[in-house]
Amino acid sequence: MLENSNELAAWDRDHFFHPSTHMGMHARGETPNRIMAGGEGVTIWDTTGKKSIDAFAGLYCVNVGYGRQKITDAIAEQARNLAYYHAYVGHGTEASIRLAKMIIDRAPKGMSRVYFGLSGSDANETNIKLIWYYNNVRGKPEKKKIISRWRGYHGSGVMTGSLTGLAGFHNAFDLPRAPILHTEAPCYYRRADRSMSQEQFSQHCADELEKLILAQGPETIAAFIGEPVLGTGGIVPPPAGYWQKIQAVLTKYDILLIADEVVTGFGRLGTMFGSDHYGMKPDLITIAKGLTSAYAPLSGVVVGDKVWQVLVEGSDKLGPIGHGWTYSAHPICVAAGVANLELIDEMDLVQNAGATGAYFNRQLTEALGGHKHVGEVRGEGMLAAVEFVRDRDDRVFFDASEKIGPQVAAALAERGVIGRAMPQGDILGFAPPLCLTKEEADTIVAKTADAVKSVF
Ligand code: PLP
Repeated sequence: MLENSNELAAWDRDHFFHPSTHMGMHARGETPNRIMAGGEGVTIWDTTGKKSIDAFAGLYCVNVGYGRQKITDAIAEQARNLAYYHAYVGHGTEASIRLAKMIIDRAPKGMSRVYFGLSGSDANETNIKLIWYYNNVRGKPEKKKIISRWRGYHGSGVMTGSLTGLAGFHNAFDLPRAPILHTEAPCYYRRADRSMSQEQFSQHCADELEKLILAQGPETIAAFIGEPVLGTGGIVPPPAGYWQKIQAVLTKYDILLIADEVVTGFGRLGTMFGSDHYGMKPDLITIAKGLTSAYAPLSGVVVGDKVWQVLVEGSDKLGPIGHGWTYSAHPICVAAGVANLELIDEMDLVQNAGATGAYFNRQLTEALGGHKHVGEVRGEGMLAAVEFVRDRDDRVFFDASEKIGPQVAAALAERGVIGRAMPQGDILGFAPPLCLTKEEADTIVAKTADAVKSVF
């Protein structure tokens, strides 16, 4: 325990502008405000010495678990040898080249090159620019609009905040609306008419998408972006047949598919990519989080052959592509990425995410599925969510202002497990590190059941 933790908390309130935080509450000391100090495996501890199981892996990113020396050694070695050189005009480091090859080797078929950024948000900004460039080079300058889904999360930059289909990320920011459109959220439990099967609801989502495309004019629509499993929008796996039906509409109108795999990439669903899991055929894939397990900031855009060929043609016509960051393929971050992907293989974490994730989801369903205030327990691989309702039989939802999710998450944190109150207000989410054991899963489930009991 650090002696100065009270002083640190005061400096924090006075000086630190936290992301996604209620500024007034934080300044008044009303946020949880834990100052984290260390971690090992799935366990993390704060400056008071309190230990917790981190059942959300930070922000679904510390996939290999905390304290992995292989990655910290790789970071230290790269920092000692060459902390920085840029990647412009064909430069690179050994680790940047190795990591690009490792990603393409693991990616779905038809992927060609990797562009490296630093965050999921900037990678999606890159996607938008590449798509506009692609259609300009193809002589289709009017084909520029991008369709996202309500409840999708794609970042909080200027364009990516607009792609994000959650009102809390739009409030009072005046984000550009024009080239971004939103369509139906693939939330079967919440949105489907009770008489619909999952397949029928998937068809409804595909029909809504097609209606939007036709209303706007297919010649104006460039791309569709979606997370294989909705993440921040409530951890919602797609209804049966969803991606096949969506993909058919996109192919019909020559619309690119961006699979935002910031959460699902590198094993979280029990397959290397979520696209593999659902048979999606993306043209571009966004990666971040699990790429380095967050040991260093790194993201990427994995570009498919079809788009890549046009980018080559474009630079032959127009000169170098004027896009890049100083820190693209930062040597320390890509070194972390190489060690992380090796560790995922050595620890067999993709397999464990599938097997232990399925066990975790079964146990969670058994413990809470019949509770009168639980509408649905759902998940896929090492992702799970519990959606609370006022009335289970009549599907009456809580008002977001009742903050049921935050209440359960706070009760759970008191019991030594960190889950995440999803922004909808009535959903508790889980995304543990992929190294979770069955015993740790049992502990999370038992403590969650106890926390739910304490709230209802
Ligand atoms: N895309 C998805 C699916 C995400 O979940 C996130 C972040 O949670 C992002 C993009 C944005 O990533 P970042 O926070 O690194 O900018």
